[in-house]
Amino acid sequence: MKLFLRPMPPPNVMRTANTNVFAIAAHPDDIEFYMAGTMLLLKQKGWRIHYMTLSSGSCGSTRHNAATMRRIRRQESKAAAKLLGAQYHESLTDDLEILYELKLLRRLAAIVRKVKPRIVLTHSPQDYMEDHTNTCRLAVTAAFARGMPNFKTTPRQAAVEGDVTLYHAMPHGLTDGLRQPVTPDGFVDTTAVHAVKRQALAAHRSQKEWLDASQGMDSYLQTMDALSLELGRMSGRFQHAEGWRRHLHLGFSAQDDDPLRDELKEHWYATKT
Ligand SMILES: [Zn+2]
Repeated sequence: MKLFLRPMPPPNVMRTANTNVFAIAAHPDDIEFYMAGTMLLLKQKGWRIHYMTLSSGSCGSTRHNAATMRRIRRQESKAAAKLLGAQYHESLTDDLEILYELKLLRRLAAIVRKVKPRIVLTHSPQDYMEDHTNTCRLAVTAAFARGMPNFKTTPRQAAVEGDVTLYHAMPHGLTDGLRQPVTPDGFVDTTAVHAVKRQALAAHRSQKEWLDASQGMDSYLQTMDALSLELGRMSGRFQHAEGWRRHLHLGFSAQDDDPLRDELKEHWYATKT
């Protein structure tokens, strides 16, 4: 396919031309659990960070109705994005309604073209719930379609040129849906930004009582701490870490394109090339 054979500009040109990183997650607070440390480090390097959860978080309560939860969680997400210094993008649907379907894909593809990311951060293709895996599929296809004028987006947004590299976060529980362990290709040392990441997660106040009750998460803050400490331990060198797996380059970028490695340097440790 033509896309695969397109000559690539040298990496330094790509770097200076585009420094947008777009985190596309399923639920309010997923970005803070799995991705925010990496985003903060990129921001320190001059990148513009974009924040979006496909779902409004409408089901995150047994006490409030969906309309109330949408309103509460939108405010919490906006506060979290502000703490991270990220540009907030509105959610497109509700909990358990993130489906791999055309209308949603057209809407997400429009936003991807508008943001024009150089890096997309999204969920693992294997994860504990379908909202996460469907978000991953939608993000991958929306990024793939960025340069195809014949794919119509909603609203209409012109196709964009340029490389994009996708990275998948660690699945919840560090396993796939069939209980098999998932290990990252690379670790990002998030120790220096952990406090800010934790502060942003704490902005999702409504989730404390809900997760305590529904999923036995004895404080979602402690759950996030434990996850990042475990990834740090797995890296063998960092205290706190986030783990990433890089998507296949075909249709997206040059084969050896790895902007997290290139940008984060001292904060990056690869276990696979
Ligand atoms: Zn989630």
